[in-house]
Amino acid sequence: MKYISTRGQVSPIGFIDAILMGLADDGGLLVPQHIPQVSEATLQKWQELSYPELALEIFSLYVNDEIPRADLKKLVDDSYATFRDEAVTPVRKLDDSRYILELFHGPTFAFKDVALQFLGNLYSYVSAKTNSVIHILGATSGDTGASAIEGVRGKEGIRICILHPHQKVSKVQELQMTTINDANVLNLAVEGTFDDCQRIIKDLFADVDFKVKYHLRAINSINIARILAQTVYYFYAYFQLAKQGHSGKVSFSVPTGNFGDIFAGYLAKKMGLSVDKLVLATNENNILARFVSEGVYEPGAFRGTHSPSMDIQVASNFERYLFYLYGEDPQTVTQLMAQFKADSRIVVTGDALKQVQADFAAYSVGNEECLDTISEYYQKYGYLLDPHTACGAAASDKLAAEGETAIVLSTAHPAKFDEAIRLRSISQTYPEQIQQLFDKPQFVTVVGGTNEEIKNRLVSFF
Ligand SMILES: *Cc1c(COP(=O)(O)O)cnc(C)c1O
Repeated sequence: MKYISTRGQVSPIGFIDAILMGLADDGGLLVPQHIPQVSEATLQKWQELSYPELALEIFSLYVNDEIPRADLKKLVDDSYATFRDEAVTPVRKLDDSRYILELFHGPTFAFKDVALQFLGNLYSYVSAKTNSVIHILGATSGDTGASAIEGVRGKEGIRICILHPHQKVSKVQELQMTTINDANVLNLAVEGTFDDCQRIIKDLFADVDFKVKYHLRAINSINIARILAQTVYYFYAYFQLAKQGHSGKVSFSVPTGNFGDIFAGYLAKKMGLSVDKLVLATNENNILARFVSEGVYEPGAFRGTHSPSMDIQVASNFERYLFYLYGEDPQTVTQLMAQFKADSRIVVTGDALKQVQADFAAYSVGNEECLDTISEYYQKYGYLLDPHTACGAAASDKLAAEGETAIVLSTAHPAKFDEAIRLRSISQTYPEQIQQLFDKPQFVTVVGGTNEEIKNRLVSFF
């Protein structure tokens, strides 16, 4: 399998180079040259596999022989052995048509572990194979940072520096990042917002001399390995229902920010999984919901919500969908992205808009509605949703037809967002691993927001 750019200016590269490149050199995003098609017979066989076995089969389709199968198997097994649930991503039944796919049983209690445990091991493997160091630099609004740090802490050949906005992440998120005392981890708390952190990272990556000299690599969700890792649980969830006697199509409702997770669902469908609707759930930052209903992709004003990991105006994976929407034509994508740069909007009309509306149903969930949903599910099912998952549940309830089978992706454990849950006077007991964080010392440096200051910190760290 080779990988190409959505903008067509990168000659096809292999899997490992695609992982290392992150953002394509022409400014586009990397996609597989062909999407592998999975036959009905193969799907039948896959139904019997455990999560790691299934992940191995799916990754094999995308990795070819670039990583020997035995090595790939070890990478996969190591990545999912850290999950607390035997099924890795279990499906819970709420009633005959409502299911929750729990993606939060990894080390940091958020779904990002599913991809970042794997990516961390993959980077470490590549570092050992190529005998080179890998320096990971990233910005986080909370979940990605903790998950990326857990993915690489203590690993040979890798150092990681994560910027987060000082005192603007949830308490548990802050503790998860800063209580880690491995020599290869540096936490910088920036006096500013998440956007300030992202701007610094962007500037440092744009400084080509600095980037090359220090072997900087990204971990953001545009990395194709993250998307591939996330396709696995769509298949796995479907198979879990099939084993319980369910047949036919299933809808998935996906709490969406950067469009990575729902794009993985779109890819699973294109590979041949029997997906009915992909429900795109947003919070009040509803650019993507507006796109699906009106065909206009245009950032609005930023809104702070109870689901901060979805507080995103420009969805970094969206370009991948445009590529498929326009028949895998890099010229059209290049034009559309140039138009977006010039006018800050993309408009899709006619047949293309009809296609968008066939691919997705979308709903934007208000702040109060999010909290109402948490209360409602707690009373009705005795099930506590985190505020991100609550957006998915609210959208699913709004859009699913009577009796239609819907799986809501649960992207975080409620303990990570207790601040929101307490607003509805619901008290929860923290899992032991989270409770323990409160007694640990923190390792973090508070810094101002200048590029120069961050650069100096990095140079002495590396
Ligand atoms: C990152 C994140 C999301 C959004 O996922 P995308 O792939 O960016 O769309 C949703 N919920 C939680 C808890 C997250 O951490």
